[in-house]
Amino acid sequence: MSTNRRADRRRFFQTGAAAAVGWSFGVPSVHGNGVSPAVVHDGTYIEPSRPVPIMDEADVVVCGGGPAGVAAALAAARAGARTRLFEAHGCLGGIWTSGLLTYILDSGNKPGIMREILTTLQAREKDARRAPSMYDPEAVKLLLEQMCEEAGVEWQFHTQCAAAVRDQTNRLALIVTESKSGREAVAGKIFIDCTGEGDLAHQAGCGWDYGRPETGDAQPMSFVVLLTGIHLDEIRPYVSSMPGDTWAGPKDALAKLIKESSGFGPSYSKPSLFPIRETLFCLMANHEYELQGFDARDVTRASVQGRAELHRMIDGLRGLGGPWKDIRICASPERIGVRESRRIHGRYTISSDDIQHGARFDDAVCRCAFPVDVHSTTADRGKGIEAAPVRAKPFDIPYRSLVAKEVDGLMMAGRCISGDFYAHSAYRVTGNAVAMGQAAGWAAAAATRDGKLPHEIDWSELAKTAPWYEDD
Ligand SMILES: Cc1cc2nc3c(=O)[nH]c(=O)nc-3n(C[C@H](O)[C@H](O)[C@H](O)COP(=O)(O)OP(=O)(O)OC[C@H]3O[C@@H](n4cnc5c(N)ncnc54)[C@H](O)[C@@H]3O)c2cc1C
Repeated sequence: MSTNRRADRRRFFQTGAAAAVGWSFGVPSVHGNGVSPAVVHDGTYIEPSRPVPIMDEADVVVCGGGPAGVAAALAAARAGARTRLFEAHGCLGGIWTSGLLTYILDSGNKPGIMREILTTLQAREKDARRAPSMYDPEAVKLLLEQMCEEAGVEWQFHTQCAAAVRDQTNRLALIVTESKSGREAVAGKIFIDCTGEGDLAHQAGCGWDYGRPETGDAQPMSFVVLLTGIHLDEIRPYVSSMPGDTWAGPKDALAKLIKESSGFGPSYSKPSLFPIRETLFCLMANHEYELQGFDARDVTRASVQGRAELHRMIDGLRGLGGPWKDIRICASPERIGVRESRRIHGRYTISSDDIQHGARFDDAVCRCAFPVDVHSTTADRGKGIEAAPVRAKPFDIPYRSLVAKEVDGLMMAGRCISGDFYAHSAYRVTGNAVAMGQAAGWAAAAATRDGKLPHEIDWSELAKTAPWYEDD
């Protein structure tokens, strides 16, 4: 959808929708529970003030339980901080689980929690025929809950961070959550935004960037599914990331087969079929262009379009018969995969120049060894991976890029940290998200213990106290 169409639609919601349900602007009406008067004024509903119970007070509050958030909560709790974690969906893991992604990238040089997760997953399934950094999402859901329970993290599912409140000193003081229990407030000493979209930092009033600076276009979302009814040995030429394969070979073969069987080329021109077990696969074959991951209407539209495309594709493959005759979608994501959202302004912004020169920082939390990886931001850019004007050398992610610039007491970890368009395209993968989360959690716990704010922490010194320091 073009930016203009999106703006038109917003104007409709802001003006037309209220009129359509019979409200007149500026005229008070009575709230459903008969307690407080509600006012609609100039296309805006004025929410009446109401008391929100402060249900808890924690040392460290983490919003979002994806790869970054789980690592942040684990590191903070293991360091002795009372840690609360809020997750919008019904499992931990974010894109790893509710997004059904099955491949952890840039994890090889990440000691601590990342290594622990991979080692445990591999030990639990020694015989699986897949690359060591691939996994079954159900196994990850279980493992992350076990790790958080053991560390003493207190987490809550189906709970969205909906608002953030600063005190007079510009320090984030509490968040407001929304869940089946209603609106509740949680006070904290240090907060970590691991929502991917940067929801918490945005709610707290931080500035952010989005997409390419020239056009505002961002990377597409992708609807990933799990497939069954096919066997690894029978469809081997179409399976990606098997030992000895080229990157493009199986993807091009699969794209051709989909086109022949379904009559259309997939919206992602390099469809990837990843093996989880001999008869269970992950398929990434969809791109949803020009829709924003922090707009609920865009996310809904992307999910509906993605699901429809995947079903048409799989119906086509099934029609081929032979090894494809029983192919089925056995799981679709609770949440469509969002590659790019808000990049929150931090105390340092990782730049294209940094990644081109392989920047080194005294306050490095990890080294990103992943290349620039921009999926076509619009359908007319090839529907695959774009040729980027920038090449990355392994570069450090500095602690300062995890610390909010405009609000005190707030950190970020994962894909919403401070970086430019091309830097983000490299550091966004989950090996880095985990390493950032673990550093943010460790620093947040130290800040609460020493009565400091995150920007007052000397990471180059604190890092030496981290349990993974010697393994680095
Ligand atoms: C289709 C796709 C394929 C990818 N392929 C790979 C790959 O093969 N390997 C790889 O390593 N990386 C890959 N990436 C990149 C990587 O998955 C992301 O950048 C990664 O998700 C970053 O982790 P995160 O923890 O920052 O965010 P997420 O995984 O998005 O986690 C954010 C969590 O916060 C929760 N949340 C969001 N908003 C709120 C809120 N307001 N309140 C409470 N909770 C909230 C979400 O439910 C989610 O659980 C891919 C991404 C996509 C979309």
